[in-house]
Amino acid sequence: MERFEVTTLRREQLVDVTRSVDEAVRALDVHEGAVLVYCPHTTAAITVNENADPAVPADLVEGLRRLAPSDAGWTHSEGNSDGHLKSSLVGASEVVPVSGGRLALGTWQGIWLCEFDGPRRRTVWVQRLG
Ligand code: ZN
Repeated sequence: MERFEVTTLRREQLVDVTRSVDEAVRALDVHEGAVLVYCPHTTAAITVNENADPAVPADLVEGLRRLAPSDAGWTHSEGNSDGHLKSSLVGASEVVPVSGGRLALGTWQGIWLCEFDGPRRRTVWVQRLG
């Protein structure tokens, strides 16, 4: 398994980690198959979505903020229940196909680390499947 670190700068932020995952794919020497991209944190997540227009990740953050407001009267004492909820809504991982030794993503797709309780230092795990 390969691991890399991401430093987030805001409480909520999507960070494009496509290049780092691609480097992990090469380090793992995967030619055909898939990799699991996994985030071992309870207030962060991994998603695949558009990385062309910066309005898209901004709108994803805003949409999740509307679904899970921070001031909705949650009971968890850390005050970051919205971050936990957003993490579960988006999910801790994505499986991404690999072909010809490279990530097989659609033209407009990138892999994003989603921060919901930053700024923090986060870790992403990349594991070869099959
Ligand atoms: Zn918490």
